[in-house]
Amino acid sequence: MATSRKKLFIKTYGCQMNVYDSGRMADVLAPLGYEPAEEAEGADMVILNTCHIREKASEKVYSELGRLRLQQQEKAAAGERMIIAVAGCVAQAEGAEIMARAPHVDMVFGPQTYHQLPEMVTRAVRGAGGVINTDFPVESKFDLLPGEGATPQGPSAFVSVQEGCDKFCTFCVVPYTRGAEYSRSAAQILEETRRMVANGTVEITLLGQNVNAYHGEGPDGRTWGLGRLIRELAEIDGLRRIRYTTSHPRDMDDDLISAHGQVPQLMPFVHLPVQSGSDRILAAMNRKHTADDYRRIVDKLRDARPGLALSSDFIVGFPGETAEDFAATLRLITDVTYASAYSFKYSARPGTPAAAMAEGRLTEDDKSARLEAVQNLLAEQQRAFNAGLLGTVQEVLFDRRGKLPGQLLGRSPYMQSVHAAAPDRLLGQVVPVRVTAVSASSLGGEVVTTESVHGEAQQGAGGRPSFISPDIKANHQEMTA
Ligand code: SAM
Ligand code: SF4
Repeated sequence: MATSRKKLFIKTYGCQMNVYDSGRMADVLAPLGYEPAEEAEGADMVILNTCHIREKASEKVYSELGRLRLQQQEKAAAGERMIIAVAGCVAQAEGAEIMARAPHVDMVFGPQTYHQLPEMVTRAVRGAGGVINTDFPVESKFDLLPGEGATPQGPSAFVSVQEGCDKFCTFCVVPYTRGAEYSRSAAQILEETRRMVANGTVEITLLGQNVNAYHGEGPDGRTWGLGRLIRELAEIDGLRRIRYTTSHPRDMDDDLISAHGQVPQLMPFVHLPVQSGSDRILAAMNRKHTADDYRRIVDKLRDARPGLALSSDFIVGFPGETAEDFAATLRLITDVTYASAYSFKYSARPGTPAAAMAEGRLTEDDKSARLEAVQNLLAEQQRAFNAGLLGTVQEVLFDRRGKLPGQLLGRSPYMQSVHAAAPDRLLGQVVPVRVTAVSASSLGGEVVTTESVHGEAQQGAGGRPSFISPDIKANHQEMTA
């Protein structure tokens, strides 16, 4: 039976997990005739895939719903329907409240239920009232979704390996919105990665709220950790790069650390959130590690893979954070030195233990001043890290066209954005690039091997391509911060 074509617009907020989920929602809706659209205007269905991690993130959703209402009314005036759905963590946390504040919303569903989307859409289309689904179903959505890799994701793809979190940091909503920790089976992950690689993917990022707590069933019937899973994935021919995010320091075990020294495809860049450098605040956050535990883990990682770079997340202004606590955070940043990092002002999330901590709350101004100090230090470190790469050759995976004609954009091993003059046929390839320009947030360079440029391998000793003089002039434009 032919299905009529309909336009689907998904707006994604928040983390990479949400980006991944949005892709899977599109996969689930494709058989119903929904095709991706670039904008909400004129769409038959709009899904806001939301983030609840900070207050600002959820307020943005309500403003967007207000704007969508007008577009929905315009469509209705033309005798057509626009289904509006709210998915993700705001949906999970606020459920019925969304319908009360925005009655024009047709569906509200949490992150664990999107495999049930076809049924929800049918109910929303037929029914008069809105559909709310914020269950944590007993069946795993992963067993019921179409296979990952069915739709080609491009050279760099996400693979969800773990969901949920059992850590209960006192500031965080994730354990409440995403539920308990769950790991997919290694066989499922290996199979899907093989399929993706056959479809042209050369880099995968293993995703999980707490990805290094991965403990999935291996094909041998034993429980595999993330290190073991990575070693097996590295055996897949054609898979050039493996990354994983986001990790918790407590779950950084020796096997995973040693994988960094042994698996060349595992990129020398780890996002390892620490949140604070003060043991007192780390305890109040229920992080289950001290600042020195974190320093030791970083040392071990760098021993295993010299040159490994780090990024992290920091929260400033947690309730009770004194000037000394904050100074300890700046000290930790100075000791570790980061290639990049994210930092946030503490935002009280309803229902979390920290939201009830009344003692020592900081004013917005104090939080802002601390955030600025942390960001200045982190930006200085990022600039220094980037500057240190000037003149070096970095392997870049080109995954998109640049703004200028004849320019491609890609990522270095350290996740920096890199631009270079390069022909389109290098899209989807990992190519050596000499870094000729650096800025605060990105690099510019020249392609330095003829291997991929001319399609002929110039092998050096040990079967590695040898670098020969550049034959493509890079765009030397100096980027500004
Ligand atoms: N699982 C990761 C970990 O253990 O650090 C983090 C996941 S969370 C989605 C991403 C980041 O958001 C956290 O690392 C934290 O820095 C920040 N975050 C979470 N809750 C927050 C809050 N209530 N206020 C400010 N930042 C918050
Ligand atoms: Fe949130 Fe902590 Fe779990 Fe990370 S480890 S998702 S910060 S509760």
